[in-house]
Amino acid sequence: MDEKPRIGILAVQGNVREHSAMLRTLGAEPVEVRKPEQLRDLDGLVIPGGESTAIARLVRLYGLEEAIRQFERPLFGTCAGMILLDREHLGLIDLEVARNAYGRQVASFEADLELEGDERPLHGVFIRAPRVIDSGPEVEVLAQLDGEPVLLRQGRMIVASFHPELTADTRVHERFLDLVREEMHVRA
Ligand code: GLN
Repeated sequence: MDEKPRIGILAVQGNVREHSAMLRTLGAEPVEVRKPEQLRDLDGLVIPGGESTAIARLVRLYGLEEAIRQFERPLFGTCAGMILLDREHLGLIDLEVARNAYGRQVASFEADLELEGDERPLHGVFIRAPRVIDSGPEVEVLAQLDGEPVLLRQGRMIVASFHPELTADTRVHERFLDLVREEMHVRA
């Protein structure tokens, strides 16, 4: 049997528990990460939603910025986590993102999304969500809302502008874990 993937969840601020619970349901071992050395021996890392300015500040304060840049395994960023990975922050994913870009009246909303390669709609919970303004040639779109990308992948990275950890639908986390397992397989 395959080894259980050990997935770090950046736990400085934001939706940590929800990701943890979902990853556990899917057979992974969640590990809360607050220090650079905790990234060692992880098979993947989740950067949760929350407040990107707070997360960015704490990441710098705890010396995690460079450690995350050096981390070579799959990454999954949701909402504020997507902002953290963008060109302007950690510079790992080739995206320009605008924060809180759905306007005041619709700051938070829910919508059914079309998921690439899947007939069943994906229910997305958007909370003061970021919007993709520009994306590089290596970025693929995995789900859209009204023609705009809301779930994207670039190589070993997946980012969502919504919160898949806040519904009971595990498909986005499953896709991330598929990436993680593929990489574990390559290393083995
Ligand atoms: N609006 C938040 C930010 O800019 C992101 C919201 C979220 O993660 N739910 O950081």
